[in-house]
Amino acid sequence: MLKAIALAGSVLLLIMGATRVAHGDWISTMVRYERNLSAANDMAVGGAAPEPQVARRGFDFSFLTRRVKGRKALSRIREPLNENDLMVSDRHVGMDMTSELRAVERPAILELRKYATIESGDTLVKILNSQGLARSDVNAINQAVSQVFDLRKLMPGWPVSLNLDASIEPMAPGRLISLHFEPSEDVTVSVERTPTGFAAHRDETVYIEKLMIASGTIRKGFWKDAKALGLPDRVVANAMQTHECVTDFKKDIQIGDKFSILFDARLTEDGRIINSQKIHYVAFETRRGKREVFRYERKNATGYYDSDAKQSCAAAFSLIRAPLARPYRMSSPFNPRRKHPITGKIRPHRGVDYAASKGTKIFAAGDGVVIAKRTHSGGYGKHVIIKHNDTYQSLYAHMSRFPKNLRVGSRVQQGQVVGYVGTTGSSTGNHLHFEIKKYGKQIDPVKSKLPAGQKLSGSARQSFFIVRDNTRRMIADAEPVIAPET
Ligand SMILES: [Zn+2]
Repeated sequence: MLKAIALAGSVLLLIMGATRVAHGDWISTMVRYERNLSAANDMAVGGAAPEPQVARRGFDFSFLTRRVKGRKALSRIREPLNENDLMVSDRHVGMDMTSELRAVERPAILELRKYATIESGDTLVKILNSQGLARSDVNAINQAVSQVFDLRKLMPGWPVSLNLDASIEPMAPGRLISLHFEPSEDVTVSVERTPTGFAAHRDETVYIEKLMIASGTIRKGFWKDAKALGLPDRVVANAMQTHECVTDFKKDIQIGDKFSILFDARLTEDGRIINSQKIHYVAFETRRGKREVFRYERKNATGYYDSDAKQSCAAAFSLIRAPLARPYRMSSPFNPRRKHPITGKIRPHRGVDYAASKGTKIFAAGDGVVIAKRTHSGGYGKHVIIKHNDTYQSLYAHMSRFPKNLRVGSRVQQGQVVGYVGTTGSSTGNHLHFEIKKYGKQIDPVKSKLPAGQKLSGSARQSFFIVRDNTRRMIADAEPVIAPET
């Protein structure tokens, strides 16, 4: 009897979570709960075997201890649950509850969304066990997934999202409805419960690669006008970077100037440009003439050169000076001798602050490897450090959050998102604190000279001219980028 009261208590809890979405009155919810409960104990529909009923004298506390055990197993779940995580699965029930009858006939399954993070030494079995699933299910899921994905390649840090049946009695083993994880940007592995077991899928995004040319006229500013063509941030940032040392975007580029970008575009099947594999050529037609740069690959360093073989930037050293999506404004410059306004003490500011709204994308200033991704309550707050080469490192602080797949050890490309503007750590408002270190010492990201471009000579110069002329011919063959309709 008392056990029944405890059960009714958890039913009520479920009802509280369910009424918001169920549109039915609480009685029909109750009915569905009962139905789900019997399904959970029915091995024929994937449930666990019912617990043997043992007659006991006095009060049965076992449900309490089992609950605690279950909690402990779930303690690895990183993100706290909120009521939005509790949802009615539309795969299992049509939610137009126009008649109570239908609600009774077709049991709703409440799904609980959860996220786990793979830790070093984890196996899929370990993660599934931590969810308190039935052992036979764990084996079946593991078996299904291993047919589409080599489970030895699970990497620490990957998130795994799970949909569990929330209408299970607290004491019964958990029931997995589906789970998925993403081994890379392009691959998703998922497994779903089916009437006959578990079915796993591996979905690989198919990309189309083609040579494209994006041309436009400056109306608002290069960034906005290039974005309006449907180019992603990363491509625009990379295109700007090819001109960083030869063009001052504020002074040299004016309304009415024209631009063109020749690049190997990567597109989704429905024609959306998501990245560029290579930018071959970027040109601005300005009042003072044409400013062109051509990509030229050499053994050690790939760089961009003007039509006379003068290097635009030494690519290996080039870094974006303000690595974030617009709009932003510099709120505090680099100042190693900054004085505290009240105490008069020197409190150096060894980076640049860019004020921007919360969530503004922050880009990797250059190609490199993530060597730190930390969360501090003071100081830098959430920050990332990228090592570009033996000379340069960059740091991005006070982020609100990190991108999903960024890990220590991740290789990043210039212009790739490495975080989002926030105000974590010692910070009084949303801004990016950005540092560049050269040989371990901070330099002014805005004013420091980038290594001077050099002119190619001898055979390199001759082979550059071949590449240059070839690139010019490619422009004619490239497919024009057409702005998406808005
Ligand atoms: Zn700062």
